[in-house]
Amino acid sequence: MIRRNKIIVFISVGFLFLGSCALLNQKNKIEIETLSDDTAVKYAETITVEDLTRHLTEIASDAYEGRETAMPGQKKAAQYIENHFKNIGLQPGMGKDGFQQSFPVDLKDPKKVELYINGNRLNFLEDFFYLGNVNDTIFQDKEIVFLGYGIDQEGFSDYKNVNVKGKIVLVFEGIPEDSKIDVSWANWRNKLEAANKNGAVAMFTLQDNFEERVEQVRMFIENPRMQLHDKGNQQFKKSLPNIYISKDSFSKYANFDNKKGKILNEKSTIKIQISQVLYSENVLGFLEGTDLKDEIVVISAHYDHIGYDNGEICNGADDDGSGTVALMEIAEAFMKAKNEGKGPRRSILFLSVSGEEKGLLGSDYYTQNPVYPLENTVTNLNIDMIGRKDSLHDNDNYVYLIGADRISKDLHDISEKVNEKLIQMELDYTYNKESDPNHFYYRSDHYNFAKNGIPVIFYFSGVHEDYHKPTDDVVKILFPKLAKTTKLIFYTAWEIANRKERLRKNA
Ligand SMILES: [Zn+2]
Repeated sequence: MIRRNKIIVFISVGFLFLGSCALLNQKNKIEIETLSDDTAVKYAETITVEDLTRHLTEIASDAYEGRETAMPGQKKAAQYIENHFKNIGLQPGMGKDGFQQSFPVDLKDPKKVELYINGNRLNFLEDFFYLGNVNDTIFQDKEIVFLGYGIDQEGFSDYKNVNVKGKIVLVFEGIPEDSKIDVSWANWRNKLEAANKNGAVAMFTLQDNFEERVEQVRMFIENPRMQLHDKGNQQFKKSLPNIYISKDSFSKYANFDNKKGKILNEKSTIKIQISQVLYSENVLGFLEGTDLKDEIVVISAHYDHIGYDNGEICNGADDDGSGTVALMEIAEAFMKAKNEGKGPRRSILFLSVSGEEKGLLGSDYYTQNPVYPLENTVTNLNIDMIGRKDSLHDNDNYVYLIGADRISKDLHDISEKVNEKLIQMELDYTYNKESDPNHFYYRSDHYNFAKNGIPVIFYFSGVHEDYHKPTDDVVKILFPKLAKTTKLIFYTAWEIANRKERLRKNA
């Protein structure tokens, strides 16, 4: 599950989309067609607490270093999942190219930025920090111009009679007290835009509470931003580097009077060479259907996690180790059925994606480069964090379902009936409301399928105090609950993959 601050872009796109898919009451109510005898139940029994525990204990161990996208721990997990797919007899989802779909990502690692003032190198996080808001660039020996608060509004401008062309502007954070300055100037974006408009090459922002600020941004620095390589960097191109410097440090390196704000002939060199192209991998296992093999049911879970937090490994047992092992067990159950002549009519793609925590990158890449045509993709059942109980429920016999009715009412009805017949968990739709302030609908990989008009269900058991923390560990997983939820998803997939008609979309 991705953090909220990374989803802002998705949301704006998402709302446009929602407007066009109002729910309709479809007249002919759907019935379950394929679960009347014990066939599926027999294979669901192969989904066990023991197997789930064994797999999760492995991939959520420290040896996988928090499975951060494009890092060695993630690649080790990919290999573990691939081995499992191979062992149970799934076909390589990439055909002759094997099980792994490799995709390039751009990494911006702000720790690599170099900053010099009058030839002296400043220390990252001790003297300054930078969050990586522009493309790589180098500025050599540029003059620093002090500009007060860097305000440029009607009737008052710090830029008046100052030439900043080709120079670095130095500004205080915030706005002066007792002033007629518009509060919008407290926002660094406005200051940066003003600096850009006036021809500066970079902005230094002086900070009083530097140490405190470092703690606030440490997370962004330790888990550097990534994006799909082919996305380009359009949003950054017009911007300038904004570098935050401790006020005390700046006075140490530069001839600067803190009180009067006077500066003399100071020069700075900035080397922003922080971008790198790395590769990450989705793992695809394919089970060919018997007679409707061109129609594809996609079951997905992301296996990447966030790596380290302040030096500690985040094992991501729930996020999304739980979904990953559920996927592995569902695959095994379907393979066993197939080996005994009870394989599904439609094909199933077991899609274990990476890059989720960096912005749903693996599923974004897959849906832009689908191995199986999206128009033949019947549904995406996505599993992300199903191993815990949240504080909003008294007992653990529940699961949140998100998205089920938005594109196909058939899918919602089938899911309800399967649950009623075989599982009897409480299906909680709290987070399916469009008004949900958490925006969970946009925060996991199913969204990239939904965006393409494919009916989805997102299975989720809620957030908890260990979310994205080093304490999201295997010991806290409720394995019987995890097994029960996994069976629910297995049965739902079974019905969808075997029923006569393909799921209908809402009109
Ligand atoms: Zn997450």
